[in-house]
Amino acid sequence: MHALLVEDDDRMAHALATALAQRGHSVRRVGRALDALRHVHEAEFVLLDLGLPDLDGLELLRRLRTVCDAPLIVVTARCGERDIVQGLRAGADDYVVKPFRMAELMARIDTVRRRTGARPGPAGAEPAEAAGRTVRSGDVEVDLAGRTVTAAGRPVRLTRREFDVLAFLAGRPHEVHSREEILDRIWGDAFLGASRSLDVHVAGIRSKTGRPGLVRTVRGYGYQLGAPAAPDGPDDGPDGPDDGRGTASGRDGGP
Ligand code: CA
Repeated sequence: MHALLVEDDDRMAHALATALAQRGHSVRRVGRALDALRHVHEAEFVLLDLGLPDLDGLELLRRLRTVCDAPLIVVTARCGERDIVQGLRAGADDYVVKPFRMAELMARIDTVRRRTGARPGPAGAEPAEAAGRTVRSGDVEVDLAGRTVTAAGRPVRLTRREFDVLAFLAGRPHEVHSREEILDRIWGDAFLGASRSLDVHVAGIRSKTGRPGLVRTVRGYGYQLGAPAAPDGPDDGPDGPDDGRGTASGRDGGP
């Protein structure tokens, strides 16, 4: 497969490119964010360093995600909890902290490719009977075929993965789904990074819809579609903690 390697450090880039080539991948290495944006359309998967000279890596990640759906793994020295959460929320499929073992990174690449490639389509995570349906819960509508969500009639912008999680729960709204089941169906694997990722994505769904009750936590087990109440207050204006655009304050909001 063709990899886009975004890494400004020559030694790191050389080591990664060599390892990728040994596993049969073709590699385009770029050291600047602008070149990454220029070449991302040709990539079948992306390895992204966050410390780049011309643009913050998280901002680049968000921009890449608006134009590219390819599997993307962040490979960075930033190891704080907040960095990892922000990276996953911005659309990374996995997050690997430097220094890392090359064999482990290569295994994670295989896993990410498998779980993203294994899905037959954007609706692949849903049971077949759910395709084409619109599921309502409270004032939230989830259009499973159109992959759109509205809350009180207003569109909610979820990431691809957030929608997959919500659609999976909405596909069988009366069932409680275990963490393992969700991780297996959406991520294709239940390893550590994805396990944290599930909580991050559920938090994203709750904050972006402004409906914390939309996803119900079944403690110690998993999640279920909930029946959310609209935020308190008059119907004629957003007075919640955010306006449904996903900038939940305080949770992981950075500068
Ligand atoms: Ca760097």
